[in-house]
Amino acid sequence: MTDRTSISQRALAVQPSATLAITNLANQLRAEGKPVIGYGAGEPDFPTPQPIVDAAVVAARDPKSHRYSPAAGQPALREAVAAKTLRDSRYDIEASQVVITNGGKQAVYLACQTLLDPGDEVLLPAPYWVTYPEAVGLAGATTVPIPTDESTNFTVTVEQLDAAVTSRTKMLIFVSPSNPTGAVYEPAQMEAVASWAANRGIWVLTDEIYEHLVYGTTRFESMPVLSPEIASRCIVVNGVAKTYAMTGWRVGWLIGPDEVSKGATRIQSHLSSNTNNIAQAAALEAVTGPLDAVNDMRTAFDRRRKTMVHMLRAIDGVTCQEPEGAFYAFPNMAGLLGRPLGGHTASTTLELASLLLEQVSVAIVPGEAFGSPGYARLSFALGDTDLAEGLQRITDLVNAS
Ligand code: PMP
Repeated sequence: MTDRTSISQRALAVQPSATLAITNLANQLRAEGKPVIGYGAGEPDFPTPQPIVDAAVVAARDPKSHRYSPAAGQPALREAVAAKTLRDSRYDIEASQVVITNGGKQAVYLACQTLLDPGDEVLLPAPYWVTYPEAVGLAGATTVPIPTDESTNFTVTVEQLDAAVTSRTKMLIFVSPSNPTGAVYEPAQMEAVASWAANRGIWVLTDEIYEHLVYGTTRFESMPVLSPEIASRCIVVNGVAKTYAMTGWRVGWLIGPDEVSKGATRIQSHLSSNTNNIAQAAALEAVTGPLDAVNDMRTAFDRRRKTMVHMLRAIDGVTCQEPEGAFYAFPNMAGLLGRPLGGHTASTTLELASLLLEQVSVAIVPGEAFGSPGYARLSFALGDTDLAEGLQRITDLVNAS
């Protein structure tokens, strides 16, 4: 019988985003006058480059922008995304394969809605970005997390995939560079995963949102380019948010085989219709323009990355892999658990995050949010001074305890 007293089971099952919750809490405490330093943000701290903003202003004045446009995205932007994809990752696709969405997040959601049925299983290497299991769950499918750790630089192995696959496995979610670990797969590892999936006819959703944020000698590789055999079962998710400091504009896309793109467009046509025309005009300017701004951001992130890793490693009880991409460090903080810190003791990283917020006004995202207790995610997309100051506060707390 219908339960009229309750909201849907689906809505009840969704977990609020832990990363947004930490950022909101940090902002709230800051508004109350606390000197909070937040490592929670998953976004560049730079403004959107001016030519992109200017293109949006022009579009806002154009009456054509004031009307509905095609649900799959403006034709010019879909063409430009196809051209950009060839330019940046040598993936040769048709504009018809591109669906413009309200951020990469919606592309993930649409991919799940388009491909998954109740009962299907989705392999998800942990630690994972918080949105993936929710998007899988909202499609009625089941997430099968596969734990990874420092021993493989947080990358999943074929042996682990073999152990987790069942006759119900429909899809694997893959991300490199990774949120939350900053890990980047080596080409041989990526090829192994791709051929494993291709041999079994398993779909791969590969999230390329951090493609331009890799450091040192690390190179970004696009899975369907490295392993063309997976292209017919591959969905690429990407967007302008991280590359062009455009998180608030909400433009992303998915690239899939025609059937998937058409299915996603049908769903999008009832869900949101077209992505905001003015934001699409800004995204068009972004993807057809130069990559100078992201090169400058990358230089700043690289500097902050080095400071962060160096300072984290100097804390007694913390170890840290070097992140090779994105803008997150994912230190192992198990050594800080079960020992007094400022007169209090945390037994989990969830408790440690509260303790650090209360004791030294520092906000980190506990590993529990990403399916990996014992770790924490710290974004290095914040100013150099704050970045060093917050880590110094943690260092001082540990040294004084
Ligand atoms: N994928 C990953 C791995 C991310 O970290 C994010 C942003 N946190 C996104 C996709 C989505 O970004 P947006 O919706 O802002 O385009």
